[in-house]
Amino acid sequence: MEQIEKDKIIERQLRFQELLISISTKYINSDLSDIDKLIRESLQQIGTFVESDRSYIFSYDFKNNTTSNTYEWCAKGIEPEIDNLKDIPIGFITQWLDAHKRGEAFFVEDVSKLPKDGEHGLRAILEPQGIQSLITIPKIKNNELIGFIGFDSVKKINKYNDNEKDILFVFANMLVNVIQRKEQEERIKEQEKKKEELLHNLSLQNEELNEYAHVVSHDLKAPLINIHTMVGWFMEDNKALLTKNHLVPLKHILFNVEKMDFLIKGILDYSAIDRKKTEETQVDFNILVNEILKTLLIPEHVTIIVQDNLPKIYGNASRFKQVFQNLIQNGVKYSNEDKGTVNIGFTENKDHYEFFIKDDGIGIKQDYFERIFKIFTKLESTSSSSGIGLSIVKKIITYYKGTIWLESEVGVGSTFYFTLPKR
Ligand code: ADP
Repeated sequence: MEQIEKDKIIERQLRFQELLISISTKYINSDLSDIDKLIRESLQQIGTFVESDRSYIFSYDFKNNTTSNTYEWCAKGIEPEIDNLKDIPIGFITQWLDAHKRGEAFFVEDVSKLPKDGEHGLRAILEPQGIQSLITIPKIKNNELIGFIGFDSVKKINKYNDNEKDILFVFANMLVNVIQRKEQEERIKEQEKKKEELLHNLSLQNEELNEYAHVVSHDLKAPLINIHTMVGWFMEDNKALLTKNHLVPLKHILFNVEKMDFLIKGILDYSAIDRKKTEETQVDFNILVNEILKTLLIPEHVTIIVQDNLPKIYGNASRFKQVFQNLIQNGVKYSNEDKGTVNIGFTENKDHYEFFIKDDGIGIKQDYFERIFKIFTKLESTSSSSGIGLSIVKKIITYYKGTIWLESEVGVGSTFYFTLPKR
């Protein structure tokens, strides 16, 4: 071969490689929202370069043993075939299927030289489409044959050298990758959509449940007050007649009605946390804790120590109050029976404050560390406990995007920690 001819071939190969690089760059940089257009464009570019008149992509369906044309580009004046080439039985193209299964290209340089092998033979399929030469390259995804790309030459006989074939293989691979990427992105989008829907439904259900709890507790309160009032009146009106035997069960009724009222108040408080928007201000925790300590009944034997200079945090004062009140109240309630101390303090971190309420009381078994934050969980059945306090605390802290946990040792004491982000 003459040098000029060799140079021409090399120069053509270089241009082919450059074209491929430019297509692959487009694939990489595209957000794949219009992948169909992208694929059609590249079919045109490669088709034109290899001087074919029609380029196309087929996918194999080995469940139904068919193959279908999914993308096509046709040069000017060439009839599109895509609509005629859907669900073609692969039995008609066994020759090229066999080649593809071996991972090889299937190449016919001159269709007119193919044997005349009946109406379902290859020649009978290609000739009516006016095809003179054809090359098809398998598309292989994860070692699995999934389809092929092909180039028809209608106007003239076309030859492909080994180097060109190699480049076409690279192109087929690129197509597999870009389609795979698109499928993965769609799957991720689909999953994200499902997740969002799930979260949305969950939050709706949560709202409904809160609303339900609120309405039910609210409606329960009226008859309860009625019972309390009636029993009270009855006791008052019949003071002279009632003996101790009468009074004990009546007082028991009143006690239980009060307990139920306390529980209902707890449920109402719990359901109110994310039900209603509340006024938010800069809350000074020094003032807040001071106010709480003034209203709490603190027995003689318990000392409360509060760290100086508690921070100011933006939020709703009465919610923050509920948090401290419940935790301090528990600290006092479960503190050392002879001489108890409850310590209240905090540490400051980069983006949040960490508070602690520490007592030296009965302590909690590690098995219960998670459970005590669940509504209605109480470890001891005393009349004054409802098992709601800590669940309210946790709900408020979670509402403000903080976390709550504890350290405790039975007989030594408990420390409840919670964080509140700086805002
Ligand atoms: P309540 O105190 O009204 O029963 P809480 O939700 O505040 O409800 O607490 C749940 C349970 O956790 C309590 O019944 C108690 O058994 C246990 N608990 C809470 N705080 C402490 C504490 N500081 N020390 C020991 N046990 C505690």
